[in-house]
Order: sequence, then structure tokens, then C-alpha cells
Amino acid sequence: MNIVHVAAHQDDEGHSLGTLLKFKQQGGHHITLICTTNGDKGMSWNPEIPYEKAAAIRDKEMRSVAKALGANYICLGAEDEFLYDTKEMRLRLIDALRACRAELVFTHWINDYNLDHTTTAALVFQATMNSIITSMVSEHPALEETPKIYYWDVGDGFGFEGTHFVEISEELIHEKVRIIRLHESQMEVMRKIGPDFADMLYERAKAVGQRVGVPFAEVFRPCLASRRTPLASMLP
Ligand SMILES: [Zn+2]
Repeated sequence: MNIVHVAAHQDDEGHSLGTLLKFKQQGGHHITLICTTNGDKGMSWNPEIPYEKAAAIRDKEMRSVAKALGANYICLGAEDEFLYDTKEMRLRLIDALRACRAELVFTHWINDYNLDHTTTAALVFQATMNSIITSMVSEHPALEETPKIYYWDVGDGFGFEGTHFVEISEELIHEKVRIIRLHESQMEVMRKIGPDFADMLYERAKAVGQRVGVPFAEVFRPCLASRRTPLASMLP
């Protein structure tokens, strides 16, 4: 299966990384990570670092995550924290989904604490539907089937009620924590505003697992819009 993870920023894959690792472990899948923005505001407490340099650091970190996952990485290049639903961004995402022949897409929940996240979810909603429409012309040929969408866990406070649970093994939870730490610059940024990000993801996976009686799990919610609703069996 061609699996595509569409996030706003380089490090937003934390809530689905265990599931992506499980796909990798199964074998036979192609995984592509897409970021809609270039992450150039990511050196949050070091404004003296130029935006281009910040974007380059985050690109490098994201490429090491992609490498660890055996995935491709595509950046759509919008300015971090200024992502808008524009004609250009829709076409870029449609073409990226076509380029990787997307079948299953993971993305942000439709309500979130950051508008880059909700805009990414909106772009995915529209671009998946448009990716099969041949009159929507882009570089790559249209898809034959509309890709299906799963939303990942955004945490509490945003009306996200997870319904589809994926058990994550002890081995993969440690691998997830190791890989998320490859975003070295972001680990430092997060420590300034809260608990260690990788530790937080570990605790979240444990709490989600407890709900379904396994040591660790991640949870998703299917898109219920026509042609984009996934089968439960698409999850590993
Ligand atoms: Zn983000």
C-alpha cells in the first residue's frame, strides 16, 4: 500500500510514528512523509538564526526521520506559521499525492491548536478528493481511486474522539522515541515550554494503550466524507 503522512511541520509525526513503524515492519508498503511548510520558524527562541538556516536544519532532521522509516520526504515549502489554503498549495498537494500514488493518508485532525495544522487537514480533505479528477491538471497523472484518510490523535480539548486503536509493541515504542529525538532542534524548543516531547509521546501511547488493555497504542479517527472513508483493515 502507498501510505502518505501529511503534516504541517517537521516533528508532527509523533502521534502516528508507531503506526508507520508497524507498516514498515510488515513490509511491502511505500511510505511518504509530506510537510506543507518548511518549518522556518522552528528555532523559536533563537531569532538570530536566519529563516533559511532554520528551514535547512529542520529539513535535515526530517530527512533523518524519513531515512529511519525507509520513507520518502516531500516538502511543499509554504512559510511556517503562514500556511493558507490557496490554489497553489492545493495544486502542490494534489500533485504530491499523485506522485506517490497515495492510497491511505494520515493527517491532522480538523480542529487543533495551530492553524497550520487545521489548514493542512483542510488541504488534505480537498486534495484527496481532487486527486482523481483529471480536469485538475498537475504534473503527474490523476489517481484512479480517491485516497482514504485517517486523522491522528490531537490530544484532549479539540473534540477528537479516537475510534481506531493500533497496538504498538515495546520494541516499536522505543524505536518511535528514538526517531522523534532525531528532531534535535525541536527537542530543545519543546523543553523550553513543557515536558520532554519524546517522553510525552511515550506516556501518551501508554495511556492510549491502557484504554484497550495493551501496553502501548496509537489512536486514529477515520474521515467520514464520501470516497475518503477508510476500512479499519487498512490499519496495521
Ligand atoms: Zn506542527
